[in-house]
Amino acid sequence: MSYFARIFPVLAAALIAPSVFAQQPALKVGTASATPGQKAMGYIEVPAGVDAATNIPVIVVRGAKPGPTLALVAGAHGTEYASIIALEKLIGRLDPAEISGSVIIVPLVNLASFNHKVPHVNPVDGKSMNRFYPGKMDGTQTDRASFLITRDVVGQSDYLIDLHGGDLDESLRPYSYWVRTGDAKSDAIRRDMVLAFGLDTIILSDDRPKDPNDSRYLDNTATTRGKPAIAAEAGYAGTVETDDVEALIRGCLGVMHYLKMLPAEAGKPGAAQFVEHPVWIAKVDTVSGEQDGIFYPLVKRGTYVAAGMEVGYVTDYFGKTIQVARAPESGVVLYICAVPTMVKGNVVANIGVVATSAP
Ligand SMILES: [Zn+2]
Repeated sequence: MSYFARIFPVLAAALIAPSVFAQQPALKVGTASATPGQKAMGYIEVPAGVDAATNIPVIVVRGAKPGPTLALVAGAHGTEYASIIALEKLIGRLDPAEISGSVIIVPLVNLASFNHKVPHVNPVDGKSMNRFYPGKMDGTQTDRASFLITRDVVGQSDYLIDLHGGDLDESLRPYSYWVRTGDAKSDAIRRDMVLAFGLDTIILSDDRPKDPNDSRYLDNTATTRGKPAIAAEAGYAGTVETDDVEALIRGCLGVMHYLKMLPAEAGKPGAAQFVEHPVWIAKVDTVSGEQDGIFYPLVKRGTYVAAGMEVGYVTDYFGKTIQVARAPESGVVLYICAVPTMVKGNVVANIGVVATSAP
């Protein structure tokens, strides 16, 4: 995409006559190649290196009309199932005839995690697939996959949404992130994107790396390359609940409305439906396990807790309590350990401290 189109995708798109647009070259991501009006499937082929090769599925939905390119990614953690299923369902729902612009869908980045039911990491190299961006080709499988996703997905997109959820051992209530970088224009676009996504709880995050060569997270990799990106989470503990899946699908469609990639719905002339009065989370307190043992939760995901309140306790293998886990501050339980396994240093709960005013 040209510099002009990158900076002003909507404006540039409007200046290209439809007949000219129809002759545009194919948008190619991995082996998926689509011309305007087409939906194409293929793989991002990650070659073997110091460890095994892998093929990451990719779908390119090329709208019949010009517009921006939005990347939708899930399954960096391959057992965060609700987010993966949301994108799998979206493949069939998106109709190229209706879309202005293109959607690149990568529904399942971490196939080895999915296949072997291993939470948090890629079992091939033991690395989280959302911590090693922008990646490198002379590293392990996670590094190589991250490099190719950065080059082929981020590199060809104007906007990006990375979907996550509670992993097998995390009982999580849905939320999204508004990462602020200090660039007022980009921050404002990403604020609109999280409001258009529509989850009612939004975490404010100001401490992401600013260096694009050490961007670590996928959304941060896009944002630091001038492509506004957000991350959103729904689903928990291996479940695929309709409410969670639909919330993520609605979120992606909401952002597409905001970017004017979908026609206006009846009664909603063109505008995205921003969530009203979200709960803004100013700070996240992590309560961790102090010793190995057995975890017993005392609150559920989404519960509001007061400072000092017990959120759970840990016993040794003989039933003796060895840790009483308390909320360090008042807030909402964003997620709590979903399984009895507790290992020193693992997360007992993340408590979101609610901002006193909307940012
Ligand atoms: Zn995740």
